[in-house]
Amino acid sequence: MATLTIDGKQVTVEEGTTILKAAEKLEIDIPTFCFHDKLEAEGSCRMCLVEVEKMWKLQAACATLVSEGMVVKTDTPQVRAARKGVLEFLLINHPLDCPVCDKGGECELQNLLFKYGSDKSRYVEEKRRFIVDPQSKYDDLAVGPQIIRNMNRCILCRKCVRFITEIAGEADLGTFGRGSKSEINVLPDIPVDNPYSGNVVEICPVGALTSKSFRYKVRVWQTKATPSICPLCGDGCNVKLWTKDDKIYRVTSRRNDFVDEGFLCDKGRFGFEFVNHPHRLKQPLIKKNGKFLPADWEEAIKLVASKFKTTREQSGADSLAGVGSSKLTNEENYLFQKFFRVVMGTNNVDHRVNSRHLLPSPSLKAKNQIYSTTNSINEIEKAKLIFVLGCDLLKEHPIINLRVMKSAMRGNALILANIESTRLNRFAQDELIYKKGSELTLINGVAREIIKGKLLDADRVRLSNSEMEKLREKVQPFDSQKVSQTTEISSDKIKNFANTITKAETVMILCGKEIITHPQSTEIIDSLYDFLRLTGHQDKDSCGVNLLWEDCNSLGTLDCGVLPDRLPGYIHVSDEALRKKVEGIWNAKIPDKPGLDFNLLLEAVHQGKIKAMYIAGADPVSEYPEEDYVKDALEKLDFLMVQSIFLTETAKLAHVVLPGASFAEKDGTFTNVERRIQKLGKAFDPLANSKADWYIICMLAQSMGYNFDFNSPAQIFEELVRVSPVHTKLSWQDLNETGK
Ligand code: SF4
Ligand code: SF4
Repeated sequence: MATLTIDGKQVTVEEGTTILKAAEKLEIDIPTFCFHDKLEAEGSCRMCLVEVEKMWKLQAACATLVSEGMVVKTDTPQVRAARKGVLEFLLINHPLDCPVCDKGGECELQNLLFKYGSDKSRYVEEKRRFIVDPQSKYDDLAVGPQIIRNMNRCILCRKCVRFITEIAGEADLGTFGRGSKSEINVLPDIPVDNPYSGNVVEICPVGALTSKSFRYKVRVWQTKATPSICPLCGDGCNVKLWTKDDKIYRVTSRRNDFVDEGFLCDKGRFGFEFVNHPHRLKQPLIKKNGKFLPADWEEAIKLVASKFKTTREQSGADSLAGVGSSKLTNEENYLFQKFFRVVMGTNNVDHRVNSRHLLPSPSLKAKNQIYSTTNSINEIEKAKLIFVLGCDLLKEHPIINLRVMKSAMRGNALILANIESTRLNRFAQDELIYKKGSELTLINGVAREIIKGKLLDADRVRLSNSEMEKLREKVQPFDSQKVSQTTEISSDKIKNFANTITKAETVMILCGKEIITHPQSTEIIDSLYDFLRLTGHQDKDSCGVNLLWEDCNSLGTLDCGVLPDRLPGYIHVSDEALRKKVEGIWNAKIPDKPGLDFNLLLEAVHQGKIKAMYIAGADPVSEYPEEDYVKDALEKLDFLMVQSIFLTETAKLAHVVLPGASFAEKDGTFTNVERRIQKLGKAFDPLANSKADWYIICMLAQSMGYNFDFNSPAQIFEELVRVSPVHTKLSWQDLNETGK
């Protein structure tokens, strides 16, 4: 540790800390352009110059390490003169086009000029121009599908290039030329088109890089920034929604180091257009003579309530079924399953519409692991070996992909096993491409190799003798030749993998969609746990099996009990004591017989046993593997009500469609892959005559004679906390900026 004095205040920091970071601890602001704490320091802009006693010239605070007894001054006449000089130099060539520059209003150069610069220029010569088209006065160059470069404004801080190489692991943007001719550019025919390209716009301190989707649409001071969560995958990146007049103009990051470290993928950054889409549903629709006609809420709710009531009276509660969605909030999903159990009187409620094979399995529940990741996102990158199984991380979890790349770039081992090669393989020590469906054989084959080859140090094994014996028996049939034939991976590769995983100090296993929706998912995950115990990696820091659920609220929807056999917090419906506790809170009876899962529901519809269905937020016709089968089933229903923001393929089959609200139009929470519960922010009211989904559920329950008088998602969340063992100890107020 070293103690130093900055502007008269003492601070103690670790050796190796820079002056800039030490000053940050004292909340002393030192201006910079080229510094970013997730990038290697470059010290090129010289804006952070400070006075250090006993040093004969000013030092760059971002690149100078502290030492014991150091005395630093950050605001002296000499420092101010240096800053003024740096700014004057930058302005030699920088155009004064703030009124037409997209960065105006949030530009670091503009802001620092106001603070430290001069209002006069001594430079009278013509400014340098990077002419893109001699016929045009504008020097804008599209360097990627989303990114426009205006080199005249560039201050050559190189943050964009460093981000692309150091964080995104790409090389599609670089610095070309020398001296005053240096420019940020791309190679011919190789645009900046990587999945993280939009970050360079956010990271650029000036308006040299702007995005096609935002530029020239609105001035930043006319917009409102609402903190929220990206709804486009399970990673749960924190975002700001920039809106004006009920329209999203752009999405930027809202740094949360537990999750995203201040970066977004392009899907999250540019994929918000669905909120503004003209085809959004704006009012309730009732089908009459095969055609949808607009209706008011009262008429639509009355009709739905009477159809559900009549069906229940005539055919019994179990002739009704509900399908929730992992894209709705926790509060909506909680309310949805409560509606089915209390108002409809059935446990026929599920949300798992995208697979024929349903997780979770009760046998794995016993290990209390299956429903969540075992590690935090932050922990993933700390493992000495990351093993990714059945997952295209870049496509499924782009921000976790960045963590894994970071870990590999720092020298940790990465091994991939997939049915086809993925882009992450550039960073992998090895990539095992296996035949689809042979995952279990592969895992068992590796386990056999470890046992047979006596690769283990007996002290490390975390299996009892009887468990070890069972495992030995289980993997016995998986000899290397057979495994190689089934998986189509060479025996050598399998042996190498067995060796590497056994020797690794810590092992993190990441499983994706291919495993979660696999017919043998339960066995595969069980085997992976055995595998960790066999190699002594169970219950160690930075070790674990992580299921990376796909949707923004997949884990939350499970946690909230949108399952036919589980109440919120995985209370089994047949567990009398716990069920009674929930009944006490709900002041209602809960059926004790498990309902039908989505596959069985479809069968029951085909058999004429399910007569009416309520689908909220899901689109099974598009998501279920067999479209015609699900379509035929839904067409057989006497009554189908769909709640959605678009007239989806499923909604088209409905008798009544109720317009829900998008994530930007309501409050609520999502639970990300690491079970972090994070708050959405309502940026504006629901579009036209649409309503938040939780509100629609309340309206419907009330119309059916039940007292669902919640007036906010906060109130629903507080009830969820009382009911669900998974959510105990949480409160709405406690869900601070970084979530819990
Ligand atoms: S384009 Fe922006 S981020 Fe890149 S070097 Fe220029 S000023 Fe810096
Ligand atoms: S990684 Fe996922 S949550 Fe993060 S910005 Fe991309 S799509 Fe959104």
